[in-house]
Amino acid sequence: MAGSLIGRLLGCDDKGRLMGRGVYHRGGPPRKLGACLFRLFRETYKGDLESMLQAVVDAHPAGWNDLEKQDCYCHTRGAGVKGYELRDLEWAAQMDCHWAYLFAFENGEPIMVVAHRMARWSSAFLEPLEEWWAAVGIVPLNGDEPDWKSIELAGYKRYADAYYAVHNKPSS
Ligand SMILES: [Zn+2]
Repeated sequence: MAGSLIGRLLGCDDKGRLMGRGVYHRGGPPRKLGACLFRLFRETYKGDLESMLQAVVDAHPAGWNDLEKQDCYCHTRGAGVKGYELRDLEWAAQMDCHWAYLFAFENGEPIMVVAHRMARWSSAFLEPLEEWWAAVGIVPLNGDEPDWKSIELAGYKRYADAYYAVHNKPSS
């Protein structure tokens, strides 16, 4: 099942591509998981990003079935914590994750980078030649709540544009 990664932004590699590390969440498009994380930061953790990341990411290394319901694989689903480690974006792509929610400070202000998996396709194969993650929304966590649906659509569109740039567009 498609999923997401929730974690810390570690910067960019030498190609300018995002690097991050965190935990898996089942499903999790921006209108659900982005909104949930934004609310957690503002309401539950009162703007304390490090406390939130310790509680949401570090304490649940096996990941989440549903963060909103506090339903995780390690504790409520019995997978345990031992042996699990935080994972990177490359792992998330292999796990068929589509979204990543990566937290950082930018000029001292907490931000959440919403990223979508991207792929470069060959016309001959159905498998992507190369995959990486691109930011489709940068959310200042102390600012107004963004329009999650438009962030979500931007992610789907960028992914689809790369696909249809190589494969024929369906006639509409
Ligand atoms: Zn847990």
